[in-house]
Amino acid sequence: MLEIIRIHNELLGTYGDRGNADVLKYRAGLRNIRSRIIDVSYMDPLPITGDIYLLGGAEDAAQLLSLTALRKGSILKKAANRGAVVLAICAGFQILGTKYLTREEEIKGLDLLDVVTTPGDKRLVGDIAVQSDLFDFPLTGFENHSGVTTLGEGAEPFGYVRQGNGNGIAGLDGAINKNVFGTYLHGPVLARNPEFADLLLERAVGSTISSVEDEIATRYARWRRSLLK
Ligand code: GLN
Repeated sequence: MLEIIRIHNELLGTYGDRGNADVLKYRAGLRNIRSRIIDVSYMDPLPITGDIYLLGGAEDAAQLLSLTALRKGSILKKAANRGAVVLAICAGFQILGTKYLTREEEIKGLDLLDVVTTPGDKRLVGDIAVQSDLFDFPLTGFENHSGVTTLGEGAEPFGYVRQGNGNGIAGLDGAINKNVFGTYLHGPVLARNPEFADLLLERAVGSTISSVEDEIATRYARWRRSLLK
C-alpha cells in the first residue's frame, strides 16, 4: 500500500496543489497499485512511514506556520534520507531550502535542498514552461510568487525555464536532490503533466511501471504544450 502524505493542506492548499495527491492516487490505480492519501494537519505529527510526501504553495504567514510544525523531529528529512519521494511546490519548495529570507527576518529551512530564497522586488505571476532533463518535452504550469531562489552546489535545477520565471534567477526552475523535487509549477503540476506523476510513482515503488493510455490526461497535457510560445 503506497502512502501518499498530503502535508498541511489547510496551510499549503492556497493554490490548489492538493490535486497532486489525487493524480498520484488515480494513476497508481490505473496500474493496480494500491495507495491511500493521508492528510496531515500542522497540529499533528508527520508520519515517518510515507512513500510520497507532498507540499503545496502558501501565503507567507501560513508558510512559516507549516515550517515551524515540520521542524519537530525532522521527520521529512529522515524520510527523504531513506529514499521517500518528496514533491514541494513554491512555498513548499522554499521551506525545504537551507534558509529563506523575508523583508523582516532570516528563517532557517528544513535543509532537504541546497537552496536559499530571498524576497524579489516584483510578483512573478503567469504561465510557465520548464524543460527538465528528466523529460523530452517541456512541462507546463502556473506560477505566482515573489521569492527568488538561488541554488547552492548541492542542488541540481529541476529544469530550464522556457517561458515565465521559475526561480527568478539564472533561467532555472526548482531543484532536485535524489528523490526530493522542488518547483514553482502550480497547476496542479501533476494534473498538467501526467508523465511527472508517473516518474514520481516509479521512484516511490522502485521499479518501472506499465505505461497506460489515459486519453483525456494525455490530450490535455499536449494541448497545454501546444500553447507554448
Ligand atoms: N510566499 C511565497 C512567495 O511569494 C510563496 C508563494 C506561493 O507558494 N505561491 O514567494
